[in-house]
Amino acid sequence: MQLAPYASDPASSRGRRHPEVPAPTRTEYQRDRDRIVHSTAFRRLVYKTQVFLNHEGDLYRTRLTHSLEVAQLGRSIARSLALNEDLVEAIALAHDLGHTPFGHAGQDALHECMREHGGFEHNLQSLRVVDRLEERYADFDGLNLSFETREGILKHCSKTNAAELERQEPGGVAARFLDGGQPSLEAQLANLADEIAYNAHDVDDGVRSGLLSIEQLEAVPLFDAHLRETLGAHPALRGRRLLFEALRRMLSVQVYDVIDATRRQIQQAGVRDSADVRRSGVLVNFSESMRQDSRELKRFLFANLYRHPDVVATTSRARQVIAGLFAAYREGWPDVAITAAPGISIERAISDYIAGMTDRFATREFERLTEGRAFD
Ligand code: MG
Repeated sequence: MQLAPYASDPASSRGRRHPEVPAPTRTEYQRDRDRIVHSTAFRRLVYKTQVFLNHEGDLYRTRLTHSLEVAQLGRSIARSLALNEDLVEAIALAHDLGHTPFGHAGQDALHECMREHGGFEHNLQSLRVVDRLEERYADFDGLNLSFETREGILKHCSKTNAAELERQEPGGVAARFLDGGQPSLEAQLANLADEIAYNAHDVDDGVRSGLLSIEQLEAVPLFDAHLRETLGAHPALRGRRLLFEALRRMLSVQVYDVIDATRRQIQQAGVRDSADVRRSGVLVNFSESMRQDSRELKRFLFANLYRHPDVVATTSRARQVIAGLFAAYREGWPDVAITAAPGISIERAISDYIAGMTDRFATREFERLTEGRAFD
C-alpha cells in the first residue's frame, strides 16, 4: 500500500543505537514489532493487571489483551490514513512493557519507594525494557529498536528524566520533551488508540464485575447515544449483548471521528512530510465534540470505577505488596540479594526487578518473604 507523504517511512528511519544489517524481507518497523512480540516482557503482560487484579476473573483485560486491542484500533486507523501500520503496531504492543504488577496502584507504590532515587515512570520504564533490560541478543542489551519505535514508546516523560536521557543520547527520544516538538503521526495515533481502547474496555470490565451498571452508564452521553441507537434497532436486547453492541458502535464512531478529524487537521496544518509533523501541534485527535464526550466518559470511569471502594481496597493491598517487596530486597533479606549492574543504584535494580514481576509472582514472592512478618 502507498503510504502518505507524512507517514513514517522505514527506509528513512533515524536508525538503531547499534547499527545492524537490514533484514532481507522485513522493514525496520516490522522487525521492531517482531522483536517486541518475542520479548520476555511482552509475555509477562498476560499476567499483569489493567484495572482488575489478575486473579479476580479470567475474562477481564490484562495488559496483554489491552495492548492487542490498542494495536488493532491503531492499525485500523493507520490504514485509513495511509500511515505506517507496522510502526503503530510496534508502539502499541510495546507501550505498556514497563508497567508494574497491579496496574496504577503498583506504579504509584513503586514511585513512592523510589522517591529519593529518581522515581518511577512507566513510560520511561517501557523504554528501559526495550533499551536495556531485555537480555536476548549477543551484541547488545535490550532489543535495539529503531528510533521511531522508541520515540513512540516514550509517550510522556518528566523534564528531569528527559534532561537525563538527553545527556545520554543528545538530540534523541527525549529531546521533544525539552524543546516542545511532536513525535510521528504513528506515535500520536498509538497514544490515542490506547485511550480509546481503555475507555471502552473499562466500561465492559466494569459492568462484567458488577461495579458498574448499564443504567448508571446512561448518564454518559457518548455511551447513552449508542445504547439508545442499539435499542432502537433491537428493542428486546438486554444484558451483555446490549452492552457489547452499544460499545461496538461507540468504538466505531470514535474511530471514524479520529480519521476525519485527523485528515482535516493534517490538511489545515499544511503538513507535507514527516518533518512537518514534528513541527506541528498534535495532529491525531478527535473532533472537538468527541473530545468532550470522551472526557466525560473518562470522568465517569474515574468517579465510578477507578475510585470504587472495591477497586480501592484491592489497590491499597497491592500497594502494600510492592512497598513490602521493596523494603525486603533493600534490607537484603536471606536469599533475596539483588545485585546492581555498574552505574546502576541498588534501588534502581530492585525497582527494575519488581517492575518486571507479574501480579501473581509479586503476590507469591510477598507471601514467601513476609511469612510471619508484618509491614504495617
Ligand atoms: Mg495502555
